[in-house]
Amino acid sequence: MNYEIVIGLETHVELSTESKIFCSCGGHSAAKEPNDCVCPACSGMPGMLPVMNKRVVELAVTAGLMLNCNINRYTTFDKKNYYYPDLPCAYQITQLNHPICTDGCVTLKTSGGNRDIRIKQIHMEEDAGKLVHGGNSSFVDFNRTSVPLIEIVTQPDFRSAEEVVTYLNKLKSMFRSGGISECEEGAMRCDVNISVRPEGSEEFGVRTEIKNMSSFEAIERAIRYESQRHIDAIEFETEELVQETRRFDDVSGKTMAMRNKETEADYRYFPDANLMPIIIDDEWLEEIKANKPVAVDEKVEEYLAAGISDKEIDMLISNNKISSLLEDTVKLGCNTRDAATWILTDCAGVLRKDGKSFDDLVITAEKLAVIIKMVNDGTINRNAGKKVLIAVVENGADPVSYCKEQGLDRKVDTAAIESVIDKVISQNPQAIEDFKNGKTKAAQALFGACMRELKGAGDPSAIKELLDNKLKNM
Ligand code: ADP
Ligand code: MG
Ligand code: ZN
Repeated sequence: MNYEIVIGLETHVELSTESKIFCSCGGHSAAKEPNDCVCPACSGMPGMLPVMNKRVVELAVTAGLMLNCNINRYTTFDKKNYYYPDLPCAYQITQLNHPICTDGCVTLKTSGGNRDIRIKQIHMEEDAGKLVHGGNSSFVDFNRTSVPLIEIVTQPDFRSAEEVVTYLNKLKSMFRSGGISECEEGAMRCDVNISVRPEGSEEFGVRTEIKNMSSFEAIERAIRYESQRHIDAIEFETEELVQETRRFDDVSGKTMAMRNKETEADYRYFPDANLMPIIIDDEWLEEIKANKPVAVDEKVEEYLAAGISDKEIDMLISNNKISSLLEDTVKLGCNTRDAATWILTDCAGVLRKDGKSFDDLVITAEKLAVIIKMVNDGTINRNAGKKVLIAVVENGADPVSYCKEQGLDRKVDTAAIESVIDKVISQNPQAIEDFKNGKTKAAQALFGACMRELKGAGDPSAIKELLDNKLKNM
C-alpha cells in the first residue's frame, strides 16, 4: 500500500530586537559571556514585573502580514506553567487564548508545482535559558531567558520533507529581508509533527512530534526516518504507534521517545494578569504596514523584471545589507540592473581582492549612485568608475573630489584643454615642423602628448578636434 506523509510545523524564531521581550536587557545577539544580559526580571526574582517591548508586537505583526494572516486587534498573554532549571519563573509567558495572528497562508514553489500551506497562528512568547553541562556540574545561562520569539504554527498541510525545507527556506529569506530575524543557526527551531495515512484516506493517522531541531538537513533526515517508522509500524505491525514527543539523534539518524505527549491541561495555562491586553488600533496597524518591507515574492518578481539573474537574486535575497544598498541606490535614480552589477560584480570584486565579504562592505548608496551616474552620463569612463569605486570602498573617498584630484573627469572644460594643447605645441617644435611638411603621424604624437598631459581627463574626441583646428591654422 502507498502511504501519504502528513506534516505540521511549529517554528520558533528569535526576533532581532535590541532588548528582550519583557525587560531592557540586550536581545538575542547582545550577550558575549554567560549571564551578562540578565536582570532581576528575566532571572525570575520574586516581585519583578514584565514590561512589554513594543517592537516585538511590530515584528510579530509584520511577520503575520508577510504570511497573509489576520492580525488580531486584541491580543493577550498567558502563563504556561512547568518546572525546569532553565525557566527561572517556572512558567513561560506565551499566548494561548488570543494569539496575535491567525489564519494565514504561504505559497511554495516545489518540483510538483505551487503548494499552499495554511498558517494556523503566530504567537509571541519568551525563550527559556540554556543549561550547560560540564564535568560533574551543570550550569544555567540566563542570557536567552526572555529573548522574544514568535512561534509560527502551520496546519498539517505538508506532504514531503522537500516541502518542509522549501517552507523553512522561504521563512528564512522573508524574515531576513524583512529585518524580523537573522535566522542564524539556532535562532530558528522547529517542532515537526508527523503522521502517515493510506493514500486517498481522509482521516489523519497517529502523530508524533519531533522536538527542537534547527538544522534543515537534520529535519529532512528526521522526517524520512520517522515517516518510515510509522509506515513500518502500520504495515508490518512492528510496534504500536502512540502520540508522543520524540527527539532526533543526529549520530544514529534515529528518533527516540522523550515523553508522552503532554496536553494543554498539563501546563495549567492561565491569563497573565501582569500584562495588559494589547490593542492594535487602525493607526498603529497602518504604521506597521507602511514600514513593512516588500515581500520576498514581490521582490523576486521585481528583480526578474529588471533583468537580474536567479543567482544574483539569491545573493540579494539572502543578504539584507546589499539588498538595502541596492534599493537605496535605485531610490536615488539609478537603474536596478546597473546598481546590481555595480554591487554584485564590482563591489564584490574589490572585497574579494581584499579578502573580505559583503558584511565588510562600507559604501553609502549616495556615493555609489554618484559613481554610477558619472559613468552613465559620460563624465568618466567605466574603468575610471572602477578606480573611483576602489577608492570609495577601501578609503571612504568622496567620488567627485577623487575624480577631480586624479584627473579622471573627461568633461574638462575647453579652455583647460586648449591651454594644454598650447603648452604641448610650444614644447614640440620639431613635431610641428614635421606636421607642416606633411607628416600626419606627427599630429598623432602631439595628440598622445596632450592625452598624457591631461592624464586621461577630457573627452578624447573633443581634444582631437581642438588640436586639429590649432594645427590647421598654423
Ligand atoms: P497541540 O495543541 O497538541 O500542539 P495543534 O493542533 O496545535 O496541537 O497542532 C500542533 C501541530 O501539529 C500543528 O502544526 C499541526 O498542523 C500538527 N498536526 C496536527 N495533527 C497532525 C497530524 N495528524 N499529522 C501531522 N501533523 C499534525
Ligand atoms: Mg502545540
Ligand atoms: Zn532582563
